[in-house]
Amino acid sequence: SDYLARIEGAQGALNAFITVDRELTLAMARKADASRAAGNAGLLTGVPIAHKDIFCAEGWKTTCGSKMLEHFVSPYDAGVVERCTAAGLVTLGRTNMDEFAMGSSNENSAYGAVRNPWDRDAVPGGSSGGSAAAVAARLAPAATATDTGGSIRQPAAFCGVTGLKPTYGVVSRYGMVAYASSLDQGGPIAQTAEDCALMLNVMAGHDVRDSTSLEMAKEDYSRDLNQPLKGLRIGMPREYFGAGLAADVAAAIESALAEYRKLGAEVVEISLPRTELAIPAYYVIAPAEASSNLSRFDGVRYGHRAAEYTDLNDMYEKSRAEGFGWEVKRRILTGAYVLSHGYYDAYYLKAQKVRRLLSEDFQAGFGQCDVIAAPAAPTVAWNLGEKGDDPIAMYLADIYTLGVNLAGLPGIAHPVGFGANGRPVGLQLIGNYFSEARLLNAAHQFQ
Ligand code: GLN
Repeated sequence: SDYLARIEGAQGALNAFITVDRELTLAMARKADASRAAGNAGLLTGVPIAHKDIFCAEGWKTTCGSKMLEHFVSPYDAGVVERCTAAGLVTLGRTNMDEFAMGSSNENSAYGAVRNPWDRDAVPGGSSGGSAAAVAARLAPAATATDTGGSIRQPAAFCGVTGLKPTYGVVSRYGMVAYASSLDQGGPIAQTAEDCALMLNVMAGHDVRDSTSLEMAKEDYSRDLNQPLKGLRIGMPREYFGAGLAADVAAAIESALAEYRKLGAEVVEISLPRTELAIPAYYVIAPAEASSNLSRFDGVRYGHRAAEYTDLNDMYEKSRAEGFGWEVKRRILTGAYVLSHGYYDAYYLKAQKVRRLLSEDFQAGFGQCDVIAAPAAPTVAWNLGEKGDDPIAMYLADIYTLGVNLAGLPGIAHPVGFGANGRPVGLQLIGNYFSEARLLNAAHQFQ
């Protein structure tokens, strides 16, 4: 209840949460106490956690940042929530996010923008801005989040905390409201890599209810935290450190890499030659999948239904017109267009081919290094409203994060210093498939 008081106190200033429900939280806390009293407590029993409002949780309103789901109370738990609850974690509330996870600044939430705890004129990043802001402001020791095109790593970087996007398929997507299913992946945001490892130990694991969930042996993601970094080869992709990267971010990353060298790592230059194609490929594939996934919000099965309509089509139209915000509509239209007859080959199929080439670039890169260092974003957090009516500018800021999702790779962002206006800078480390333990190890040694 200390955390609940802090959340209430900060809500006006930060707006990091969409729903807080004292009764539900205290009931979970009592259960945790009871299992402790019965001698059944695990490592994390009773530890509070905040869930991104994209994960269905039984009895909790699950809005996904949309007016469409304003009154939707989930009848079941997402795989991730189920695992957290089984580990004894206590849900503090539901964190704010861009509507249907579409955005890079949290300004697309139907429940208002979130402010960055380091500087309230700045955005917290997105789409998991509420989770990152909540952890940064110590309103929760850890939070769940999702990353379709950077939404764990970029807000973690903007808010000076640590966020891990696992290999695609490591964390169950069951009960996670779908944005772009072939890219979506859940993961933790916490203060440190060590806490992210503990969280991933809970979140990861096979789930038969998600057909892309991977069957793999249980891993202890904390196991390598204390390994020395001697001999670790860190690749610096030329294309990530050229024009377009702000000088303050470049400087903070340079000094972080100097620190890594002191820890025994070796920094080598590599090339990811097709990096610039990541933005067009992603902004074709993600909207295409979204247009299909979001067709279920039709005013019939769940979600908002218009109050007045003449016939079924009119009901669909009005419900969707009223329930979705502008960015979501833009993505649905783009997605329907690139999938439509006559344009499919030119856009969607082309984007899928580019996706394959980007994966090949990463594999070639990993021939020369163990992990790849990259900025999480080209600048520090920008001002609220700064890119509000310029979607292209917002998309361009995703350049360093999208490739990881298109290739299905794991990536971690951890704080390395401060840039302009004292706003945090995060370093992103990208690993090959299933190298989460190594990424956590590197970030932990740095921290
Ligand atoms: N900014 C990207 C988008 O708007 C990524 C969002 C995400 O990872 N959920 O699609």
